[in-house]
Amino acid sequence: MTKLSTYYAKRDFGKTKEPRGSVAKGDKHRFVIQRHAATRLHYDLRLELEGVYKSWAVTKTPSLDPAVKRLAVEVEDHPIEYGTFEGTIPEDQYGGGTVQLWDRGTWRSQSDTPVRDLAGGHLKFVMEGERMKGKWALIRMRDDKHRPGAKVRHNWLLIKEIDDEAARGSKGDALAKETTSVKTGRTLDQIAAKSTKVWNSKRSVKENVAALKKTAKKKAPTKKPAGKKKTTKKKPVKRKRA
Ligand code: MN
Repeated sequence: MTKLSTYYAKRDFGKTKEPRGSVAKGDKHRFVIQRHAATRLHYDLRLELEGVYKSWAVTKTPSLDPAVKRLAVEVEDHPIEYGTFEGTIPEDQYGGGTVQLWDRGTWRSQSDTPVRDLAGGHLKFVMEGERMKGKWALIRMRDDKHRPGAKVRHNWLLIKEIDDEAARGSKGDALAKETTSVKTGRTLDQIAAKSTKVWNSKRSVKENVAALKKTAKKKAPTKKPAGKKKTTKKKPVKRKRA
């Protein structure tokens, strides 16, 4: 079983065999937060650890107020390659909707034992992102035992720790005003309407990465010269690619 086995189990890869996520070493690790307009808008927090992105779906904008706890539902590990993705996932697929790169940067554990801390349900860390900064904590809650046999989805709390970046009261909601991509400056609506980048959950990571590179190449020479005026009427917005 790989660390990504759940990720792969949820997606239909057929019989492809390819490298499954690269390993990055060092005390500082990457993190990303992908704002995801799926059935419900949420923030996918991904912390790189042992070659994968440990992942949580945070149900509301992270709060800078240490008194405010945000529910963070543990989801399956994600491949590192997915962390730069911004675009759309077809509606009928797992995670269907629009994905915006909302924050990125590095994180480091406040202890020397982040793997053990995560296993124990208690991770304290420091984020150096464009939006998320300073000390944060992830605390696992008790599992729901009312559904025997069901696969447990661990619920965690994402909490700002007291430091210079913390802000009390309404100032703690400051991050809710950040609605653009740190990668492209686009809003979710703009990504949904204009993005040609599609992550196909039924394909392997390698296939997706290759397809995205192709899209980028194809797009480059067709750039219209600046200043050219559009005279055509507004066309209905295309959300999906064929
Ligand atoms: Mn998501």
